Amino acid sequence: MILGAGHNGLVAASYLARAGLSVLLLEKNDYIGGATTSQKVFPDYEAYLSRYSYLVSLFPEKIIRDLGLNLELRRRATGSFTPYVQNGQHGGLFLSNVSEETSQQSMFELTGNRTEYEQMKRFYGLSRAFAEKVWDTMLEPLVSKEVFRRRFDIDETSREAWRSLVEEPLGRAIERYLQNDLVRGLVFTDAKVGVFTHPHDPSLLQNRCFLYHLIGNKTGEWKVPVGGMGAVARELEQAAYQGGAEMQTNVRIHSLDVNGNTSSVDFEIDGKRQTVDARFLLVNFGRNVLAKFLGKLFQPDSTDEGSVFKINMLLRRVPKLKAKRYQAADAFCGTFHSNEGYEQMKVSYEQASKGRLPDKLPCEVYCHTLTDDSILSPELREQGFHTMTLFGLDTPWRLFSRDNETMRKQAETKFLESMNQWLEEPLEDCLAVARNGDLCLESKSPVDIEDALGMYHGNIFQDAPTFPFALRKEQTGAWGVETDYENVFLCGSSALRGGAVSGIPGHNAAMKVLEIISKEESRSPRTFGKGMLAAGSE
Ligand SMILES: Cc1cc2nc3c(=O)[nH]c(=O)nc-3n(C[C@H](O)[C@H](O)[C@H](O)COP(=O)(O)OP(=O)(O)OC[C@H]3O[C@@H](n4cnc5c(N)ncnc54)[C@H](O)[C@@H]3O)c2cc1C
Repeated sequence: MILGAGHNGLVAASYLARAGLSVLLLEKNDYIGGATTSQKVFPDYEAYLSRYSYLVSLFPEKIIRDLGLNLELRRRATGSFTPYVQNGQHGGLFLSNVSEETSQQSMFELTGNRTEYEQMKRFYGLSRAFAEKVWDTMLEPLVSKEVFRRRFDIDETSREAWRSLVEEPLGRAIERYLQNDLVRGLVFTDAKVGVFTHPHDPSLLQNRCFLYHLIGNKTGEWKVPVGGMGAVARELEQAAYQGGAEMQTNVRIHSLDVNGNTSSVDFEIDGKRQTVDARFLLVNFGRNVLAKFLGKLFQPDSTDEGSVFKINMLLRRVPKLKAKRYQAADAFCGTFHSNEGYEQMKVSYEQASKGRLPDKLPCEVYCHTLTDDSILSPELREQGFHTMTLFGLDTPWRLFSRDNETMRKQAETKFLESMNQWLEEPLEDCLAVARNGDLCLESKSPVDIEDALGMYHGNIFQDAPTFPFALRKEQTGAWGVETDYENVFLCGSSALRGGAVSGIPGHNAAMKVLEIISKEESRSPRTFGKGMLAAGSE
């Protein structure tokens, strides 16, 4: 049985059902997909927005092939655009995904030298070296940190990669390699997305978060899922159904009993209570939710707190930029960075640490529809509508926990201010308007995200991302999905190497189950077969 039908639960279900097991998924929400969902957020308009997650980098080709998924992940022509004011003039650092010359020239205009661009490439060379050695191991059992380290002990770049990314706070390497504040900040944002950290954080949370942003499919490139993130969930849902998995939504789980050889789940659908026994229980929601059902105290690490603010918008038109040399469509097609200077983000982190909303809020913004407009109806496309996503940083859960309504409103206003400083016309003027006169804008704080999905304190990775190797002896050789209970496994982002739209923990939990079955079958053939993941009784 699989509890929760996020994309990882669906990956696990697909592998297990295809292996011939009987699989039942139970989901609390009225839809399948968890944080990978596209929804008609503004009911008056035929626009299907990726409500939570929106870009894909970490979903392995192997899972796509194994499960026969029909996914198109499309490259964005622009990598990033970072507006700035220099000598009283509005400009922008424009990093292209298709023309290195354009990127080099733009970096030269910002810094006045050619070395910063080369240094940035050298810095990213470290994460490339890391990705080369790590990526293929993500779908294998864990190896120890020491064994991992030795794999890097082959040349100076690899040793430097290990040191800079695993052993010392990321801020040191950034400051060693890069001189320009805006470039440093641009690089560091990948270390902060979704978590509350700073360049010299001794917990190395920033390093772990950064690595997850840079190793995907060995390139670290973030692509747009054609059809929106919901297309990923739909493909997985179909793969699971085709394998024979069953799914139930609107389920209220009452209790779990995990102490016997089989687990049993007591739940309710449409007021009807039932108990189902299962040989294996795979848990797609986080450790916090599992602890609640087991009546255990959840003991989070201080790094587990989420820090995110998401604004989903529907635009009547893409706003024009103050930096007139750039077309808005080029700037918003990639990741548009606002208030993300390195020193500025130290200030916003400090202010949020003290329990207040930072004066200047850092965020990144982009328009999915400039790369894939299939999420809009033909009429909206024709009229020039676009969707816009804003992902805000330095907004930890603690700021919203006491008065979510008031703080959400305040944060929303500040994020719009953050964006408006770069725009010829206020973003509000470009938003679509609902029939009742409301602007088509929806904000989600960490409190809202926890309410909707159960993610601990709104942590978009369920809890803090982990390094991709075993840190404790007993983890070596394990899949990183194990719990204190023999037949209960984590199949979601809470597992080691979980986090992001990757399917990796879903795959690894399925492999764990199949490994156990295969060992048991080799000891006593014919004991197991269809019907073992969930045996129902009402
Ligand atoms: C705002 C936001 C933006 C993000 N952006 C990106 C991005 O662009 N790219 C990226 O790679 N990652 C992104 N992420 C992270 C990524 O979406 C998640 O890490 C990933 O989707 C989690 O998948 P999962 O299957 O492990 O868990 P989830 O999607 O969290 O699924 C868990 C499921 O369990 C269900 N559940 C919870 N409690 C119960 C219960 N009591 N009973 C039954 N079911 C329950 C939930 O409803 C949910 O369906 C983002 C996340 C958020 C929130």
